[in-house]
Amino acid sequence: MTSVHDAVNKEKDLNVFSTMDNPRYAVDLTEKNYNAKTSRKWPYVHHVNDEIKSYALCPACKNPVQLINHNVSVTNAKILYARHAGKSVIGLADHYQVEYEDCPFHNPERFDSKTRRGNVARNEEIRQLLLHHFHYVISQLESATGVKYTNEVIESMLMHFTANRGYEYKAISVYNLPLGFAYMTEIPRSVRVLGLG
Ligand SMILES: [Zn+2]
Repeated sequence: MTSVHDAVNKEKDLNVFSTMDNPRYAVDLTEKNYNAKTSRKWPYVHHVNDEIKSYALCPACKNPVQLINHNVSVTNAKILYARHAGKSVIGLADHYQVEYEDCPFHNPERFDSKTRRGNVARNEEIRQLLLHHFHYVISQLESATGVKYTNEVIESMLMHFTANRGYEYKAISVYNLPLGFAYMTEIPRSVRVLGLG
């Protein structure tokens, strides 16, 4: 799993995608789901000279994303993920910079730091907020991202956040907790968002 805090990349790797029929609906990014949703056809798959480029949509900002490590042979298998394409993809979607910059998967600097806060009371305040207002945090997150998360995804995000003591991160405050929660957690690739496959 690639860390969302990878210092080199400001982008968060997407392990979900969506398609034109329901651009706000996040599907777990697996080879199987991708092929089922796109039939590996244009406008998702483009042949550029000898190269095959696979695209989809970002469920949060609806901009085109490009698949990375797609069509890599099994012996060379690397983790499949997607990145914002950063440009319009003919037939699929135009790239809208404003939406892109607001996109929660476009990892802003403020969430990059892994520095932990020494203030025990503040950490506890955030932990309590998450525990007692968890549904509120999730509903805020869903309305901010436009992504509907399944219970399994939410549960595993919570487990990851708790195990990593995400409430201690300086980058997370009571104000940005819903988005911070999403940034500081990883969604396991095995989780089926759509129940496909
Ligand atoms: Zn996006």
